[in-house]
Amino acid sequence: MGTIKEIVRVSKSVIGQKEIEAVADVLQRGYLGMGQDVHLFEQELSDFIGNNRSVVCVNTGTAALQVALQACGIGPRDEVLVPSLTYIATFQAISATGATPVACDVSIETCTIDIEDALRRITPRARIILPVHYASGMGDLEQVYDLAREHDLRVVEDAAHAFGCVWQGERVGALSDVAVFSFDGIKNITSGEGGAVVTGNNDTAGHIQDARLLGVQKDSQKRYFGQRSWEFDVVHQGWRFHMSNIMAAIGRIQLKRFEEFASARVQLAKEYQKELKEVSGVRLLEIEYGDIVPHIFPIFIENEKRDVVRDALLVENIESGIHYKPNHLLSLYKTDCHLPVTEKLYQEMLTIPLHPEVSIAQQAKIIEIIKKKVQ
Ligand SMILES: *Cc1c(COP(=O)(O)O)cnc(C)c1O
Repeated sequence: MGTIKEIVRVSKSVIGQKEIEAVADVLQRGYLGMGQDVHLFEQELSDFIGNNRSVVCVNTGTAALQVALQACGIGPRDEVLVPSLTYIATFQAISATGATPVACDVSIETCTIDIEDALRRITPRARIILPVHYASGMGDLEQVYDLAREHDLRVVEDAAHAFGCVWQGERVGALSDVAVFSFDGIKNITSGEGGAVVTGNNDTAGHIQDARLLGVQKDSQKRYFGQRSWEFDVVHQGWRFHMSNIMAAIGRIQLKRFEEFASARVQLAKEYQKELKEVSGVRLLEIEYGDIVPHIFPIFIENEKRDVVRDALLVENIESGIHYKPNHLLSLYKTDCHLPVTEKLYQEMLTIPLHPEVSIAQQAKIIEIIKKKVQ
């Protein structure tokens, strides 16, 4: 009997003793909901990102997107320009506000929103442009902000992949209109589940602080100190989207470990780049790692070889992924729009394992299989 090979996961959580102790501490203190741990996590995130940003933590990245969009004041009849090539969460968050996602194509080099395609799709109903930092790259984000200025749009960045990345010398979020992060189990850092909205706009931040707690005005400030509001007003639709102390306790430890995770991710990505960039039949994204801390590592393989590689990896117990099925192909969001680049990429994409616990030997095996099977 051969030995059972360990499964190499495409993504995974990395949790240690410190996270376990931090959760135990919250449980022992007995205040599990939103309280001081969330307040401290928000302050630490704000310090980490810099530029005095407001940070509002919620229970998922999807919820963070939804309240961020709501806080920008959109609703039925409004349109949001968004790349089709994103996790379904982005589209669901838009449609949850009543607004319509307008699916845009992506640039083939970076898989980020194709500005010219977005420009063609702008109507008088467009209110927001929502770039997605695919595989942690920002693409030409400056062009997104230029377009937004010219057409009077708010910018909500789906930065779920890009926590801790640097853009124009600052952390992603530091210079954003609004940026949204996810701390789900497999992202650059995790709080179990969780998400955050980062903004320099005080009205937007205030709206989100209330909206995450059923719209109760100024309840966040009370909860941070273990109190509640008994006499209050509500002026906006709200939700139960707040983060719990249990989640924040995990997130606070993970934030301290960011550099450790980042260097492991960057090292793996650079090695993949070095080994695969000259391999004919394989195309990589144009991303410079270092400032960019990759959440996933997609490669592109033409001519049915993608599935050959995928199957060969699986035989060796190595998982891979498809990020993502384009949203404009889903029944809920189907229109007559045709996005040639996105549809081509969908046939070619394969995400190979990248997380801090992929070993050198495992990575060498992955590279060897790809090189052998694309021939
Ligand atoms: C993970 C992710 C989200 C949503 O985050 P959750 O915390 O899982 O709700 C949104 N957009 C993208 C691109 C993501 O990868």
